[in-house]
Amino acid sequence: MEMMNGKEYIESLRKYRPRIYFMGKRIDSVADDPILAPHVNAAAMTYELAHDPRYAEIMTATSHLTGEKINRFTHIHQSTDDLVKKVRMMRLLGRKTGSCFQRCVGLDAINALYITTYDVDQKYGTDYHERVKEYIRYVQKNDLMVAGAMTDVKGDRSLRPHQQADPDLYLRVVERRGDGIVVRGAKAHITGVANSHEIIALPTRAMGEEDKDYAVAFAVPVDAEGVTMIFGRQTNDLRRLDGDIDCGNAKYATVGGEALVVFDDVFVPWERVFMCGEYDFTSELVETFATFHRQNYGGCKVGVADVLIGASACIAEYNGVEGASHIVDKLTEMIHMAETCWCCSLACSYEGFKTPSGAYMPNLLLANVTKLNITRLPYEWSRLSQDLAGGFVITTPSELDYRNPETREMVEKYLKGRAEIPTEHRLRMFRLIENLSIGAELPESMHGAGSPAAQKIMIWRRSNIDMKKEEAKRIAGIKRDEDFERVRGNQK
Ligand code: SF4
Ligand code: FE
Repeated sequence: MEMMNGKEYIESLRKYRPRIYFMGKRIDSVADDPILAPHVNAAAMTYELAHDPRYAEIMTATSHLTGEKINRFTHIHQSTDDLVKKVRMMRLLGRKTGSCFQRCVGLDAINALYITTYDVDQKYGTDYHERVKEYIRYVQKNDLMVAGAMTDVKGDRSLRPHQQADPDLYLRVVERRGDGIVVRGAKAHITGVANSHEIIALPTRAMGEEDKDYAVAFAVPVDAEGVTMIFGRQTNDLRRLDGDIDCGNAKYATVGGEALVVFDDVFVPWERVFMCGEYDFTSELVETFATFHRQNYGGCKVGVADVLIGASACIAEYNGVEGASHIVDKLTEMIHMAETCWCCSLACSYEGFKTPSGAYMPNLLLANVTKLNITRLPYEWSRLSQDLAGGFVITTPSELDYRNPETREMVEKYLKGRAEIPTEHRLRMFRLIENLSIGAELPESMHGAGSPAAQKIMIWRRSNIDMKKEEAKRIAGIKRDEDFERVRGNQK
């Protein structure tokens, strides 16, 4: 099958009947629902741009499995050049949508599985890697969008999966059968799942032997029997029903459209099971996936920052202050922070390496640095955009009052900035800044791909602190701290 374009992707969603609830009601058709529409449109952009000759180099790749031209979102990275193209693709899409476009999670899941299952098979003589390859061929051939479901709901955070009062608070295998397994549990914050074709579930943390049943990875279609999604509320989501100005980014939302996904005794045939009990490989799988997803954030979020910086520069013009030195300084600060994050994504990609499976992955330390910066700097560039835009970012009258003949003239007259700029343009730009700098984008930057503490653990582990201490001692002229080593040795 050919790569789909945006329209074909939206049409393809009609073939699935996922069970999705939002605000107390079941969603009838993903392709037609106004609340889901911006998320569907953002994901559609990942299909549409693959057909644009200007972007062919970064949006498409050649499958190492079939030799066919494929959408890069289904590709297994074969070089550091592929890793760099991946983040270039993400910055482009962030810029074109001003939003999360969701499809990266599945891309990262297939790459993490490809790498880890190879290692599992080496140790246990299993055939998971072949199953993953076969599954990837299917995804590539049909150009599918795959959601990655990793984060369990976790219950009491102080307890391990098997210690929870309710054993279903981490997704687990409840039955092993001749033809497959049955799984039960729930995954939270699952980006883009409502408008995906497939779901890959992965373990959320390193597991011990007693958590063996929780060491499970598999793929199911979104409408598999027993799968229910409860779509999350987002800041200002119902504005979508009142017109487009108040949304700020009516066409593409801002965040990915996250859902709680419940697996209520879902059957998975063996050919779609990619880990089942190999608890000693859960940490490799989690770390590999997290590295891929953390690599992305200096791409996608910086693409969104491009839009916010552009909106901030426009509002400065509409307000007549674009030449003021403090405005130029704020915009320059925003650009500096965004490009710093971009440098991180590029660096961890260029410093990527070949794994035993043959696939490439980014440098782990630098990918975590990338993401940790994204838990901070978007707050700062958002603060600057609000600072330079002014209070109307949060007090602009609604579109309904702008459209109402009784108040229209007042809004038109008193919300005007520079005379030659239509008031509506100013309203739209304030709303866009509100959407990008106040909405769910910020907590998403904080917690998406793991919270800051998770990145700090990885940064500390990968920092090679002993090497730094040795270098410090050498330069300070200290051969060995013999007394200190003896005391520390006694304490161990
Ligand atoms: Fe992709 Fe970024 Fe959205 Fe994650 S947050 S799915 S990397 S666009
Ligand atoms: Fe995310």
